[in-house]
Amino acid sequence: MTRAIRVTRADDGSVSTVLETGLTDDQLGDGDVLVDISHSGINYKDGMALAGNPGVARVSPLIPGIDLVGRVASSTSADWSVGDQVIVNGWGIGETRNGGLAERASVDSSSLVALPAGMSPARAAAIGTAGFTAALSVLALEGADRSPAVPGSGGVRPGDGDILVTGASGGVGSIAVALLAAAGYRVVASTGRPEHREYLLSLGAAETVDRAEFESAGRPLLRQRWAGVIDSVGGQTLATAIAETNYGGTVTACGLVGGVDVPLTVLPFILRGVSLVGINSVECPPAPRHAAWARLARDLDYELLDRMTTVVPLEGAIDAGAAILRGELRGRTVVDVR
Ligand code: NDP
Repeated sequence: MTRAIRVTRADDGSVSTVLETGLTDDQLGDGDVLVDISHSGINYKDGMALAGNPGVARVSPLIPGIDLVGRVASSTSADWSVGDQVIVNGWGIGETRNGGLAERASVDSSSLVALPAGMSPARAAAIGTAGFTAALSVLALEGADRSPAVPGSGGVRPGDGDILVTGASGGVGSIAVALLAAAGYRVVASTGRPEHREYLLSLGAAETVDRAEFESAGRPLLRQRWAGVIDSVGGQTLATAIAETNYGGTVTACGLVGGVDVPLTVLPFILRGVSLVGINSVECPPAPRHAAWARLARDLDYELLDRMTTVVPLEGAIDAGAAILRGELRGRTVVDVR
């Protein structure tokens, strides 16, 4: 029997999110590999799924959790054997099919990545989709000649100028700050929570800025400040960051916590040659997926990762999901499902 968190949406639109204790393997869904999960995590999207947001929880009932880490319990795939340690990030788990907030999951063998050598399951979950997305964003800033597998014009290098990270004390932001600093970039971390300033400096940020600086509409072109931007906020914040990006700079966009409408003009693109690169971790093909994990294994300081990680038990995932939607979590939250 499997313990799992399940979100059920009734015909009248009401949502119930509960910890179930007696699910059988055939209630987990289709897949050629059964994984005994040890760890999952809480991403912003998991908060949305746990709240029953139909844009993320697209089937009902659903076990949320867009990340899982565990060991293969059974497999009919030639690629994976019992006992293999594996990771799944995205590919629809926790959205269109059951995900990681459970003791077991039935998944497609094609969605599995081997746990990198030397990385513990807890740390792989701490990285999770947020860290993987941060790494994809860094690779996209650097662009084609450093990372052939990642699209986008990029070409940003340490020494080119400051890199802005927005939503910096969140999951994507914290790992982006640490990865960029490790690679020698000068990082400016934008946060709405000044109490996290020391934390962000400890991850490697050179300075912090108040996120309010980016939240009101300005002119289409503003003083050039950024060689590159990793944005996890969207909305007006993304628009302001683009308007402040240097000639030839690159901006990556992955998030929407600050809104989905981006009030832009074409001027930063046609007068400053700024590139805007969208990041989608969910359907990211295998080559950049592996490149991102390799970058994380190479550059992410595990002591910093541990410092930015909070661990909760499976039953704590519901409260953590509500907290991330309120913008209250710091860094990464791992769910220890054992
Ligand atoms: P977190 O909640 O951990 O981080 C978001 C951070 O943004 C917060 O910590 C906060 O940082 C800041 N923030 C929160 N609310 C607001 C607001 N209303 N206006 C401005 N800033 C705000 O979430 P994640 O890091 O997990 O995800 C961040 C975003 O990236 C989400 O939108 C998520 O859906 C998206 N995402 C997209 C992926 C993709 O593949 N495209 C993959 C992973 C995530 P601070 O207090 O420091 O300002």
